[in-house]
Amino acid sequence: MSSLGLEELYELLDEVLSRKDIRRALDVSSKRIENNPLSVMARYSYLEKFRDEVRKAKEEVLRNLDYYIDKTMESVRKINGEAYYADTSQDVFKLVEDLVGDPPKLVIKSKSMVTEELKLRQHLEEIGHKVIETDLGELLIQIAGEKPMHTIAPAVHMTRERAIKLLSSIGVKVSETSTLEEIVYQVRVYLRDIFFKADVGISGGNTIAADTGAVFLISNEGNIRNTTNLPPIHIAIISVEKIMPNMEMAYKQALLQAANAGLYPPTYLSIIAGPSSTADIEQSRVFGVHGPPRVVVILYNGGRKNFLKHEYLWEQLLCIKCGRCQGVCPVWSLTGNFWGGEVYGGPMGIGWTAITEGVEKASKLALFCLLCERCTEFCPMRIQLHKIIHYLKTELFKNWVY
Ligand code: SF4
Repeated sequence: MSSLGLEELYELLDEVLSRKDIRRALDVSSKRIENNPLSVMARYSYLEKFRDEVRKAKEEVLRNLDYYIDKTMESVRKINGEAYYADTSQDVFKLVEDLVGDPPKLVIKSKSMVTEELKLRQHLEEIGHKVIETDLGELLIQIAGEKPMHTIAPAVHMTRERAIKLLSSIGVKVSETSTLEEIVYQVRVYLRDIFFKADVGISGGNTIAADTGAVFLISNEGNIRNTTNLPPIHIAIISVEKIMPNMEMAYKQALLQAANAGLYPPTYLSIIAGPSSTADIEQSRVFGVHGPPRVVVILYNGGRKNFLKHEYLWEQLLCIKCGRCQGVCPVWSLTGNFWGGEVYGGPMGIGWTAITEGVEKASKLALFCLLCERCTEFCPMRIQLHKIIHYLKTELFKNWVY
């Protein structure tokens, strides 16, 4: 068993279960993550209809992925943006290094699972840039040197006390007695200057519309608007399965994701279609007014194409990363993403780990699943998550030595 690494995984999860601070934080948060989408979906009944429409549109894109990648890049260029396709993490690093320029530069980031997958922040820091996460939860993760614990709420496992300790360590003016409101205000003060001084803003993308090249970004904190609007260059790194055929379906996907994350309506939904510009003087177009003069889209594969025809794992590519399956999972609600791979955890994380880190690693995680099927029941994309997990369990036992 130890040759399969299962013992280490068991020990890690056992330790997590004994950590009172993690238990306390997850108890509160996982109930909210489970319950909030229920009331949202009940209140805005049209969202239910979006589920099948979005799934159908995503299936169409996956069936013709190369066509949609080309079409998206063409559309981005038509609106004066720059567009690239990157097959591997090294391809992304090379592009981003060239775009950011010689170190040291100040790079700000909004939360993005795909940049976590790439370990882009760590890479840019290693080559001499200063990188700052602007989402509060993700900033806490950066300071702690941990991985995100949920797709939408990365610091879901942290208590207020721990957040205060971490933020104090970087000079945010908070103390043991700070209320949540005071903490948030001080983070705002701390980040304000950084937003204006940053050389580059990097974001992910909740989705991108192939017909227009418009990038859709959801945010509640407002940090994404600052990150994508204030620095002179905005780089959006988006994994290829996030492409939607057109604006209508991209909009529906974004709303569906927000609703299933329990944050509806999202406070901000940004649609970024190329660089800012004006032609107000002599009708001559000048790029870069209040927004950046350069907007660059990088479409990242990262092994996803290898799974387009996989009997089970192709369905994971329909995932909109709303995190709903995590909130309803009895195992995740005890462990957070500690039960997961390098980046992705919980039910969706098992499939995503198979795609991004390999079937062998994911199959060990699958062993801890109870196969209760709640994830499948609640997934807005109707992904048969339990079948993916069952397949991975089977893979594990194929190599089992008795
Ligand atoms: S698998 Fe389904 S429920 Fe889980 S994050 Fe993806 S879309 Fe959401």
